Amino acid sequence: MGNQRRVGVLSPYTFTRRDVGEDDVSLRITHCGVCHADVVYTRNKLGDSIYPVVPGHEIVGIVKEVGSHVHGFKVGDRVGVGAYLDSCRECEYCNERLEVFCSKGALYTINGVDVDGSVTKGGYSSFIVVHEDEFPSASAAPLLCAGITVYSPMVRHKMNQPGKSLGVVGLGGLGHLAVKFGKAFGLNVIVFSTSISKKEEALNLLGADKFIVSSDEQEMTGMVKSLDFIIGTVSPNHSFDLYLSLLKTAGTFVLVGCPNEVKLNPLSILVGMKTISGSATGGMKETQEMLDFCAAHKIHPNIEVVPIQYANEALERLIKSDVKYRFVVDIENSLK
Ligand code: NAP
Ligand code: ZN
Repeated sequence: MGNQRRVGVLSPYTFTRRDVGEDDVSLRITHCGVCHADVVYTRNKLGDSIYPVVPGHEIVGIVKEVGSHVHGFKVGDRVGVGAYLDSCRECEYCNERLEVFCSKGALYTINGVDVDGSVTKGGYSSFIVVHEDEFPSASAAPLLCAGITVYSPMVRHKMNQPGKSLGVVGLGGLGHLAVKFGKAFGLNVIVFSTSISKKEEALNLLGADKFIVSSDEQEMTGMVKSLDFIIGTVSPNHSFDLYLSLLKTAGTFVLVGCPNEVKLNPLSILVGMKTISGSATGGMKETQEMLDFCAAHKIHPNIEVVPIQYANEALERLIKSDVKYRFVVDIENSLK
């Protein structure tokens, strides 16, 4: 490990995590998905990264130690951790099992300040300490952020009514799972993508009903007022007015991607009484529901498994939209 580190470039880093408290569970991490948020934190895109950053919040691992008050887990259980580690567990949102919206602020898996004052470090590492809760015991890493981030608003906004039409903007980690959920919900799913190279797979592998290259003005115009819902999963800035024009009257656009700014003409929502809404990850209860749904409907993320030594290349390829459709780091076999 060298002392010279370049911002945004990952390098080996040795650190210790806090001791396991009486309500805590400690994991030996086996796998960690690579989310676009890892690009955001490692490259300080929001200006609030606390270096050194250890990214990774789609974590699957094996319990290696439990605190004395922990009853739900035992050593050897397989568990998952998503975008947050803890919350107050007593406010109205925590009581509703929507811990991520905790009124005192959930403790995020990366870049959060833990009870001992240390900065939380994510899953591109060998173990993590998390608070006891109902961690799903058998889950694929990308479901823990990408999956729940699209599933939660789709269910909340009743995008699970068979026969309705759903537009998915961006076919990346989040987008490809939105397509899979959409098809499992019985929707007519239309993908809007910048990558023609994803067309065949989108239609034949993921099961989308239609694939539109978003720069094709004629095809886009042909979709005006045709969709009940749109879920937007892209981070670059794009035209909201254009996508809102594709919604039917009273249609809903849910934004889960994180562009720098959202600009729209008010008439785009006034005329046709449209809704634009946001969403961030999901609660523990709905995460468990989603995992059960995925198991029942055989929904698995399409992943490319890579060793930890490939992490920088994976982030570079993710930026170029060159992954089908989620990298998962095999921590267990490459970080020994
Ligand atoms: P991703 O795998 O990189 O997918 C994003 C997709 O956006 C790309 O695959 C690409 O799809 C599309 N895209 C359109 N224009 C692009 C451009 N100029 N450059 C690169 N990609 C472009 O990312 P992700 O992990 O799914 O995350 C998507 C967004 O959601 C990010 O902004 C991330 O920060 C955010 N996020 C939010 C939450 C939340 O809780 N709300 C959780 C996780 C992630 P096409 O090739 O099909 O165009
Ligand atoms: Zn994420």
